[in-house]
Amino acid sequence: MSKIIVLTGAGGVLCGALAKALAKEGHKIAVLDLRKEAADVIASEINANGGTAIGVAANVLEKDSLEAAKLEVNNQLGPCDILINGAGGNHPLGTTSNTHLKEEDLANDTDGFKTFFDLDPSGIKFVFDLNFIGTLLPTQVFAKDMVGKKGCSILNISSMNAFTPLTKIPAYSGAKAAVSNFTQWLAVHFSKVGIRVNALAPGFFLTDQNRSLLTESDGSLTARGNQIIDQTPMGKFGEPEDLVGTTLWLCGEGASFITGVVIPIDGGFSAYSGV
Ligand code: NAD
Repeated sequence: MSKIIVLTGAGGVLCGALAKALAKEGHKIAVLDLRKEAADVIASEINANGGTAIGVAANVLEKDSLEAAKLEVNNQLGPCDILINGAGGNHPLGTTSNTHLKEEDLANDTDGFKTFFDLDPSGIKFVFDLNFIGTLLPTQVFAKDMVGKKGCSILNISSMNAFTPLTKIPAYSGAKAAVSNFTQWLAVHFSKVGIRVNALAPGFFLTDQNRSLLTESDGSLTARGNQIIDQTPMGKFGEPEDLVGTTLWLCGEGASFITGVVIPIDGGFSAYSGV
């Protein structure tokens, strides 16, 4: 059955791919993004391929902006059946330069070198807001359409780093752990009104956000990129399309008794101890 699906951050790489895949299944898609032009590109592509989509400007950190987006979605497509909370990401101000602190790091005054002690609270706050508040506010706004209706669900986007934190990115790891925890909380809270809540935990996907961390300008892997591939039993990065099957399953009838789960899509990364 055709559903009305709202995806935040869907002008981006991963949720843009999910929007296109869900449209192919016959669903009507609202592509929400802070960058309206990026949302419009995805929506136009869907419409050009015979699907139905609208691009909508929305800031997941501002309730007024989300209420305006909801009005537009309701007027143009109808009430929301499924919400995918995809907007998220990291910030350099919440990231350390070193994997482990060494005594000599404290005297390192190289421009841009950041130890744990240099982390900027504004960067940490940015990352917690974008990932956690940016999941909570769209849920407050769009889940109202779903209360008491059949076949509704929410899919959050967590990450590998929610299970075990990744080196250098304490803010992003903590914020995604909060997203996983909130997924379970919401699943329980919404269980009596028919809204299932689950999450994907993608492993490593080469996207604009992490390309410079994982690859050199000639396309070869950085030391961190190599470390990730060595730690991934399937020996490669994920492709955006690798998220599609689990998304269709969790948002569809086949998962009608599944709520509160966080599914790793990681080529085995989280199962491997490295030994
Ligand atoms: P991306 O940067 O391509 O997409 C993120 C989108 O969110 C962008 O289009 C951006 O404009 C939008 N956005 C940013 N701030 C916003 C705001 N305040 N309001 C509305 N939209 C906003 O990133 P991606 O790699 O496609 O990541 C999508 C999701 O998957 C994120 O939550 C990310 O944390 C998560 N994730 C990514 C990876 C990976 O390897 N790329 C791994 C695990 C989890």
